[in-house]
Amino acid sequence: MIKGDIKKENYINVNIGTLWEQTLEEISKEISALSYEVWIKTLEPVKVNTDTLILASPSASSRNVVATNYTTVLSKCLKKINPNISKVEIIVLSQKQEILSELSKKEQKDSTEKESAYKTFCEDEKNSAISPKKNSLQPNYTFDNFIVGNNNDFTVAAAKAVAKEPGIKYNPLFIYGGVGLGKTHLLNAIGNEIKKNKPNLNVLYVTTENFQNDLIEALQSPGQKERVNFRKKYRQVDVLIIDDIQFIINKPTCQEEFFHTFNELIEMGKQIIISSDKPPKQINPLEERFRSRFEWGLITDIGIPDYDTRLAIISKKAYDEGYVVSREVIEYIANAITTNVREMEGLLNRSVCYAELNNRGVVTLNVAIEALKNYLVTSREDVKSDEVIETVCKFYHITKNQLFAKDRRKEIAQARQISMYLISEFIDMPYAAIGKIFNKDHSTVIYAKNKIKQDISRDRKFAIEIEDLKKLIKV
Ligand code: ADP
Ligand code: MG
Repeated sequence: MIKGDIKKENYINVNIGTLWEQTLEEISKEISALSYEVWIKTLEPVKVNTDTLILASPSASSRNVVATNYTTVLSKCLKKINPNISKVEIIVLSQKQEILSELSKKEQKDSTEKESAYKTFCEDEKNSAISPKKNSLQPNYTFDNFIVGNNNDFTVAAAKAVAKEPGIKYNPLFIYGGVGLGKTHLLNAIGNEIKKNKPNLNVLYVTTENFQNDLIEALQSPGQKERVNFRKKYRQVDVLIIDDIQFIINKPTCQEEFFHTFNELIEMGKQIIISSDKPPKQINPLEERFRSRFEWGLITDIGIPDYDTRLAIISKKAYDEGYVVSREVIEYIANAITTNVREMEGLLNRSVCYAELNNRGVVTLNVAIEALKNYLVTSREDVKSDEVIETVCKFYHITKNQLFAKDRRKEIAQARQISMYLISEFIDMPYAAIGKIFNKDHSTVIYAKNKIKQDISRDRKFAIEIEDLKKLIKV
């Protein structure tokens, strides 16, 4: 049955003003007062679009900060207020009118996607001899150019096992992780490896959006041929790779079709590989039948790469592209961005283009700093240790006295370690001098620094918190 449509009325009746006010109240309990004032209170609620609240941020740079750091907590609070609305989308205020008019056009189009068309489609199983469309794998995404680090080693091992024996191990293979961390790359690497070793196998890579577009096209065409072709394309494959499955929610027709495709392929022993930005349990609202099926195989994640992995990824990228960049530039980029490999690549490309356009030859650190000054909130040279300490205290709602006292409570000790770490990141000071501020010796500072670095690489939420703090210090 086509579910989900029924719920639409609930979304439409939402009073956006009240919803936002209640969400604000909820979120104020979750984040520091400073972050709340700077980033959240400045947002303007624009529209509720099915399960998503669209918020407008005053500028592009603040939009980026909010989108990177606060979407998770915003969604969480939003969901508490209204469980039907579990997502947020942050836009720039100047795009508001354009986005509103696009949405109203889309709403009209969606309503033409008729249930009746789907029913006809289900009855239609006539055979026609067409060969499935060619796969659209990206050939440059391979295992060879995918760096294995502490954030992805298990997932890469699973991916290689699946590539070696598709349909035998881990079926489906479900890979999840944040934006820009390599899911699409890895999915393509699996597909390319299978094509290389077993050229006769029919491998199909699609995004969930492609799948849906194909389906709508088939449903809307007057003849039967397109529908039969659609079925053939998706059900006569040996390996189906489907990227960004989270976009399937609230698309009942698409879910229905995917569900049948999934079952049929698994039954025939064909391999399915799925990616998502979150684990099945957190894709909401996702019907239980999907959740349980996704759990049949192996669910594995890609986390945030640690510093060494980030260095390796950028170095490899620079090498593969034939870029001549100094080691310092690579370190600079690896320090500037920690949670998104795509952004790191963007900074590298931008630095190289800038050097070329300005005839600067080799990309040195100075060139990179110049090139990226509008894209990164670069370190201010005049940051003082006091500023760092004050920001940390405000962020964690503690007083300076507590920070300096011999207080061993976990949250205070951690705030102290974070302060030491951030001071060492921002200010060129010997460890002993940093230690002196806190009445500790240099080994305590080194320990704190390593501990925080380790926590950053293990815990995505914590990594984002630290990035957030860095941004607050640099403003
Ligand atoms: P996602 O699909 O998770 O959003 P992508 O697969 O598109 O991320 O990755 C973003 C970019 O980062 C791509 O250019 C990809 O090649 C690169 N990338 C991510 N992780 C790695 C890695 N471990 N080694 C090499 N490149 C990587
Ligand atoms: Mg992707």
